[in-house]
Amino acid sequence: MTNIPDRVPLANLPTKIEKLERLSAQLGGPSLFIKRDDQTGTEFSGNKVRKLEYSLKEALAAGHDYVITCGGIQSNHCRSTAAAAAKLGLKSYLVLRGNEPQEPDGNLLLDHLLGAQIRYITAEEYRERRAEIMESVKDKLTGQGYKPYIIPEGASNGIGSFGYYTALREIVEQEKELGVHFDAIVVAVGSGGTYAGLLLASKTLHYKADIIGINVCDDEYYFRHVIDSILQDSGRYLQEDIAYAKQDFHIIDGYVGQGYGISSPEVRQFIFDFAKLEGVILDPVYTGKALFGLVEEIKKGRFNDLHNILFIHTGGLFGLFPQKHEFINPN
Ligand SMILES: *Cc1c(COP(=O)(O)O)cnc(C)c1O
Repeated sequence: MTNIPDRVPLANLPTKIEKLERLSAQLGGPSLFIKRDDQTGTEFSGNKVRKLEYSLKEALAAGHDYVITCGGIQSNHCRSTAAAAAKLGLKSYLVLRGNEPQEPDGNLLLDHLLGAQIRYITAEEYRERRAEIMESVKDKLTGQGYKPYIIPEGASNGIGSFGYYTALREIVEQEKELGVHFDAIVVAVGSGGTYAGLLLASKTLHYKADIIGINVCDDEYYFRHVIDSILQDSGRYLQEDIAYAKQDFHIIDGYVGQGYGISSPEVRQFIFDFAKLEGVILDPVYTGKALFGLVEEIKKGRFNDLHNILFIHTGGLFGLFPQKHEFINPN
């Protein structure tokens, strides 16, 4: 494909793929593997930096000097953006949902260290008017002589989606090295860009694996719409339509629990058990819920006809610390 946009290298790539020997044996189903996108970097850690490699290349190429984005107080995306901006000598401005806490913790502490400007807005403002608010920040900064570039929530737009196009190409190379083929690739879905990028790549590279998302907020219907519009935006860069069939779209709904950012006792117990079993720490907002969901589906026999499944660990470690009280006693 010739029209893939350029990227600015930021992440530690390729990330490792490891077999989850003990969990696979315990479940007696398909072999489970994990791709360590939690190890894309320390400050960058997680999936967002792959998208930012494309967003920020676009920003740099057009001469922008300030990056504006938005998310929750503990947004991994905002922290990655603040880190990437600092690394590239750009300024960053974060519009965060929630009240300013007395002491910054987790990702928010790192946002401060990385020099991000922060504005706190209410949940309602965030839901109804975050795009407008980011535009007003842009106007203000423009008035001060800056040239700001807005990145939407999660960098989940057309340009950002190429981050996981590149990730799938990396996976194809690693399959050759490892001598395995993955029948399914599974990922947590929060703002849809990671899933959209994987689907885009699987279609354009004619890659034969089921791309499965497990949503951690909203529902399947919502994400159908979101992912569709991200892919239309990706198509603008490729200057072609991305053709995919309804059955290519595979979101497993049912593991949101009480809502975004709220983990159940079962998920917290699973995070404990998995850490002890495999030496890998999951986060309570995304990967803990998603891998818990995958394991539950395997137990139900849903993937009995598959040989190898790859779960992408999309990071989120810093988000564990502000929820530490929930983990003193998981029940
Ligand atoms: C943002 C995020 C996701 C979800 O990715 P989207 O592209 O927003 O769907 C998954 N895991 C972690 C740790 C994240 O921060």
